[in-house]
Amino acid sequence: MPELFRAAKAATMIPGAPVIHDAAIVVHQGIIREVGTHADLAPAFSGTTTDLGDVTLAPGLVNAHSHLELAHLRGVCPSGRGFVTWVEDLLAQPIFDLDPDLLDAALDELKRTGTVMVGDIATRFAKRMAGELEASGLFFRVFTEAIGEALPKKTFIPAGDFRNGALSVAGHSLYTTHVDVLRAAKAEASARNLPFSLHLAEHDDEVAIMAGEPSAFLDLLQARGRLLDFAPPKKRPVQQAADLRLLDPTTLAVHCVKVTDRDIETVRDSGATICLCPRSNEYIGVGRAPWEKWLASGTPLCLGTDSLASNTDLDLWNEAAYLKEHFNGELGLEDLLATITRTPANILGAGGELGTLEPGKRAAFSIVPQKISECYQ
Ligand SMILES: [Zn+2]
Repeated sequence: MPELFRAAKAATMIPGAPVIHDAAIVVHQGIIREVGTHADLAPAFSGTTTDLGDVTLAPGLVNAHSHLELAHLRGVCPSGRGFVTWVEDLLAQPIFDLDPDLLDAALDELKRTGTVMVGDIATRFAKRMAGELEASGLFFRVFTEAIGEALPKKTFIPAGDFRNGALSVAGHSLYTTHVDVLRAAKAEASARNLPFSLHLAEHDDEVAIMAGEPSAFLDLLQARGRLLDFAPPKKRPVQQAADLRLLDPTTLAVHCVKVTDRDIETVRDSGATICLCPRSNEYIGVGRAPWEKWLASGTPLCLGTDSLASNTDLDLWNEAAYLKEHFNGELGLEDLLATITRTPANILGAGGELGTLEPGKRAAFSIVPQKISECYQ
């Protein structure tokens, strides 16, 4: 039987559409059939009506960047001590000892806080994580992370047939993943019409390593037998990514903290989307991305929580509230909501099903919490 949901407001996130007051959304068989005002839709409607009251409805949230493999590491790496110390702390942990109960708790936290889809990075257990996400009912894109020097024998992307998601491939970073591996990973994602992701310009050591300057992090990696014959490109990270042809409209570049004005133009002109992880950057102590410049540039922006090894929770509303609170100048409700709904749904290839409230899409809603909505009254 069709259901009608009534709410004081609905932010449909259809580009340019105003917030609907006294809104109604008609749903049937899990799909949105009609969106409009209660006055327009109620007279012709027959079915069950649920009045949600004085709330603002928004599309279900999309977390553009997480590492659910690290769900068992909540709170174990101290915060604010810089990237190198954070990695040392992380590497001292049992990184690949997944804890099913803590993974379940993380999945529950995502769902409880309005998230309906995640773009998740999997370093070792991509297929298993996709299976866990499928079982949870969340939509997903699981990126198998390409790292190191070796090209896989056949394919980066494991076979897998899922109802609510798909697998793709991400590069770990410009220095931990060999340039040939990065190029091949990007080529495979493009050939299969899948999104590609890459951690980019996250911290000062990345800039130093790319430039061929001294870096405590490079020392740490080399002491562990990694990057022993690394040849620095002597370029800024964004320029290196552009020169390797890793940036295009199907790429999600994550972090983008250490960027110049010219880097921002380069990314914007490439058509790539970026994912900001403000609380992770603060937790690790790498500084903060120039959010205001990114927004002004017109580059499509997403928000991600990153992993529980560098964040206190996976609640995207907390991520959005943090950005709003620390943003200098105007950050409108549509721009803020776009980073956790429409833009990540589009770059993760789910724009036909999620990201906006409009007929034909999944009936996946979230409710804007008061701490956000009161900023816009
Ligand atoms: Zn990450």
